[in-house]
Amino acid sequence: MTHQPTAVVIGSGPVGSAFARTLLESDPDVRVVMFEAGPQLTETPGESVRNIPDPAEKERARERSQGPLSGSYRESLGIPGTAVVEGMFTARQGTYLLDFGGEGSAHSVGFPAAAAATNVGGQGAHWTAAIPRPAFSEKIPFIGDEEWEELIGEAEHLLHKQSAAFADSALGAAIRSLLEEEFAAELPEGYGVSTLPVAGDPQPDGTMRWAGADSVLGPLIDPSSPLSQRFELRDLSLVRRVEFEGRRATGVTVQDLRTGETSVFPADLVVVAADAFRSPQLLWASGVRPRALGHYLTEHPVVISTVALDAGKMERFANEADLVEEQARRAKNPADPVAAVNRIPFSEPEHPFSVQVMYADVPPFQLDPAHPLSGNRWGYVNMGYGVRKRPRYEDGVTFDDAEPDFSGFPNMTIRYELTAAEEAEIAEATERLRRAGGALGHFVAEPRLLPNGSSLHYQGTMRAGDTDDGTSVADPFSRVWGYEGLSLAGNGLIPTATTMNPTLTSVALAVRGARQAASDLRSKGGRS
Ligand code: FAD
Repeated sequence: MTHQPTAVVIGSGPVGSAFARTLLESDPDVRVVMFEAGPQLTETPGESVRNIPDPAEKERARERSQGPLSGSYRESLGIPGTAVVEGMFTARQGTYLLDFGGEGSAHSVGFPAAAAATNVGGQGAHWTAAIPRPAFSEKIPFIGDEEWEELIGEAEHLLHKQSAAFADSALGAAIRSLLEEEFAAELPEGYGVSTLPVAGDPQPDGTMRWAGADSVLGPLIDPSSPLSQRFELRDLSLVRRVEFEGRRATGVTVQDLRTGETSVFPADLVVVAADAFRSPQLLWASGVRPRALGHYLTEHPVVISTVALDAGKMERFANEADLVEEQARRAKNPADPVAAVNRIPFSEPEHPFSVQVMYADVPPFQLDPAHPLSGNRWGYVNMGYGVRKRPRYEDGVTFDDAEPDFSGFPNMTIRYELTAAEEAEIAEATERLRRAGGALGHFVAEPRLLPNGSSLHYQGTMRAGDTDDGTSVADPFSRVWGYEGLSLAGNGLIPTATTMNPTLTSVALAVRGARQAASDLRSKGGRS
C-alpha cells in the first residue's frame, strides 16, 4: 500500500485555512489535519461572529474566543465559568491582551495593545473583513507583478471579495464626493477616493454575510465535496511542539485540551499558522531559533477620529429620500454596525497612508446625550489613517525558557518603539485627518494616535526573504530556511512596511506556499 501523505496545519484562521485548501486542491492524495487550540464557536466552523443575529449569543461567542483565561472558554472545557482570572480584560471584542497583567501574562514594553484570539477561525471570526490590495513598496518584493496578480486574484476569490459592498449607498457616495473635493487633486490616477473592498456575500435583503475562515475552507467543510473526505479540523487541540528528525519535520506533539492527554501526531508536512506571536513562540519552543525569529515586528500605527456628518455638506450630494433609505437598510440589521465603507488607498510618494472611512448611524462610543452632536440625523464616520512602521531588528518578541506563560510556553516579552520616521508621518496623517473631518462635518472625537498594537495587524516576526542572510525566517515559498517539511503561514511573513489590512496579502502568500509544498510533497513521495 502506498503511503498517504499527511499535512498538519496549526491554527484555523483564514490564512491557515487558505494553506489547507490550496494544498488539498493541488495534491489529489494529501490528507490535511488542522489543529486549533480554541473552541468552535458557530455551527459552521470558522464563521464570522458578526453574522450571529442574537446580541447575547454574539457576545458569548466573543468571550469564548478570549483565551484560556476567559470564563466561557473554561466552560467549554467543563471548568466552572466563574473562575475568571482577575485583571483579565478584552482588547477588542473577541480578542484578549497578551500582556493582560495576570499570572503567566506576556510582558510588553511599548506595544501594550498586542492581542490574540483563540477560537476556530482565529481573529478571522472577529475581523472587519477589509481586504485592500497592497501597493507600491507595500508589495512583496520577491514576487513578480504577473504572478502577484494571479495570486492576489486567487486570494480575493478565497475570501469572497466584494468590491461593490454598499456601493449603492447614496450616503456613501456623498461622503466620497466630499472627500474628493478635498483631496482628489493631490492623489495619483487610480489611487483616489473609492469604496473599500471587503470579504463577504451580500444578501438579497441588502445586508452582508461576512466572510471568515468558513468561506476560505469552502469545500473542505462541505460534506458533499470529495475534498472534505481528506480534511479534518480538531478544535481544543493545542500543539505544544513540532517534532523533528535532524532538520526534517516529522509531526507534532498535540494536547487534547478536553482530556489533557498529549500525543504525537506524525506528518510529512507541518504548517505553522498560529499568528504573528504564537507561531514564533511555537517554533522557539520546538528548538527552531533562527536569528530573525520574532524580530522586525511591524504594524501600522493608526490615527483615528469620529466625525458627525454635517447636514448642509451631505445635502449637496444626497437628499432626504436617500437618508430615509439608508436608515431603513440599517434597521434590517441593527446588530451589524458597519455600512458604506470608503477609503483612500496608499500611493507613493504623494499619499503614504491607507485611510478607512466607515459610515455608521451611531458613534462607536457612548456620546453624552447632552452633546450638541448627539443623535446626529445624518450619522457619523469613523476614520482612521494607517501609517508605515519601518522594520527594525530591535522591534519584536523574545522568549524566556525559564519563565512559562499561562499555557506553559516560553513567555514572551515584546519590545517596540516608534522612531522619528514614524513620528513625522503620524503628524502628517493627523493633519490630513483634520482636513478630512473638516470636509465632512464636525469632530465628536478629536484625531488621536491609538496605543501601539491596536491595529491587530502584526507583521514581520517570521518574515520571508529571498536570501538566507539572517534577516528572514522563511524562503520566498514560506518554508523555514534550513528545514524540510516546515512551512509558515500568516501576517508574520510580510517583510515590508505596510499601511493597510494584511490578511489578503497573507492569503496570497499562503496560496504560493501551499502550491510549492504540494510540489515538494509530490517529489518527496516519488509521485509526479
Ligand atoms: P489567526 O486568525 O490569528 O488564527 C491563528 C489561530 O491559531 C488562532 O485561532 C489560535 O488559537 C491558533 N493557535 C495558536 N497557537 C496554537 C497552537 N499552539 N496550537 C493550535 N492552535 C494554535 N485583517 C484584515 O485584513 N482586515 C480587517 O479588516 C481586519 N480587521 C480586524 C478586526 C479585528 C477586531 C481583529 C481581531 C482582526 C482584524 N484583522 C483584519 C486581522 C485578521 O483577522 C488577521 O489578519 C487574520 O485573522 C490572520 O489569520 P491567520 O490565519 O494568520 O491567524
